[in-house]
Amino acid sequence: MSWRTVRSALTALMSGAGGEFAVEFAGGEPLLEVTTLRRAVEFVETTRPSGTGVEYSLTTNGTLLTPALFGFLCSHEFTIRISFDGVPAAQSHRGEWTYRVLDGLLERLRDHDPTGFARHVKVVVTVLPSTIPLLGASVRYLMAKGVQTIEIGPRFTWDPDWAPSCREELERQMGAVLQTSYEHWCSTGKVPVEFLAGPPPLKCRREMDFLCGAPWATSLCVDPGGRAWACPVFMTSLAQLPPLALEASRALDLGAIADISFQRRLAGLPERVARLRLFTNGLGKRSSYGACAQCRFAESCRVCPASISHNPNNRDPDLIPDFMCSFSYLSLAARERFHEMTGGARSAAWSSEMSGALGRLEAAVRESVAALQSSRSAAPAHGAHRPRRENRGRPRRSSNGRPTPR
Ligand code: SF4
Repeated sequence: MSWRTVRSALTALMSGAGGEFAVEFAGGEPLLEVTTLRRAVEFVETTRPSGTGVEYSLTTNGTLLTPALFGFLCSHEFTIRISFDGVPAAQSHRGEWTYRVLDGLLERLRDHDPTGFARHVKVVVTVLPSTIPLLGASVRYLMAKGVQTIEIGPRFTWDPDWAPSCREELERQMGAVLQTSYEHWCSTGKVPVEFLAGPPPLKCRREMDFLCGAPWATSLCVDPGGRAWACPVFMTSLAQLPPLALEASRALDLGAIADISFQRRLAGLPERVARLRLFTNGLGKRSSYGACAQCRFAESCRVCPASISHNPNNRDPDLIPDFMCSFSYLSLAARERFHEMTGGARSAAWSSEMSGALGRLEAAVRESVAALQSSRSAAPAHGAHRPRRENRGRPRRSSNGRPTPR
């Protein structure tokens, strides 16, 4: 990505930043462009408006992460998300040699700077149908390495390997993750597996406007050509998309970030996305396991709409892939069970940690909606220049595409 594009994206982001904003470096592999990354951080540090706070994150395959670079990232309070699926057999689909490299990397970083390692490193495990039987072993291995935060999620793009028997195995493996996490919590008081760390799932069922934060541009993404998107998985510049995803990408495409039409495309985003059932009709969705309206976890389930649209054989925007539904259901059931096993002690701690963060998020969303409404009421009827929005919404905080998480 050219420096001109990076600077335009950062300038656009900071011009609308009210309180806090976030900058995420992802790829491809962002550490192939270390000089640009360092320059981008320096640019943000020297030009961001006074009174604003910034959170940095980096998603990397880890193979180019050196101790010196790690020190730089820690000094700027990066969250360093290392994609690593665990034991050798689980990691092998990313390249046979990568396990040895990452196994050594975790040890080096941990021994070099134990505090930085605990505070800044998050390991991101992507589960495939073929690696489900290895999930319990992978979590045990990562905990033994001293990893303090483990984000686990299913591959959201289409995987033909899913079969009905996979659900039973996934349930068994969730049981193993639960047991390992419980033992770890008893001896350390810590819960590295993120999906177990929150409060128990909510039981009510509520229709939400949108299934994820993309329609509010909670995560603005810029491709190497300088085109902005409301979600990275719908970038047509990076992948060929199946028909449902292609339709969604037209709504999420915000045009060139440096273009005069960018603010207009951004302001019209919620309206464009609201016309797509893919992002709406939460309680009207279903999988082979049943209707979401009947599911006890409907309120807490955060299945990513991209998983529906990335099945090349699917034309139904309400049909959730069975793998996604199973992972979501079983991980929420595991969290519920973990809450019972720990007598609610962990959930209480989590709630107190999160209440401040949620308050800030709520305030930012309110500010963003108010700015959107005021920009609409001030806009001329057709075509002419619209005033700049005051706040484009907060960039992504976590993974998984959910306003985490987005
Ligand atoms: S777990 Fe499955 S059935 Fe339940 S709400 Fe989520 S996708 Fe729908």
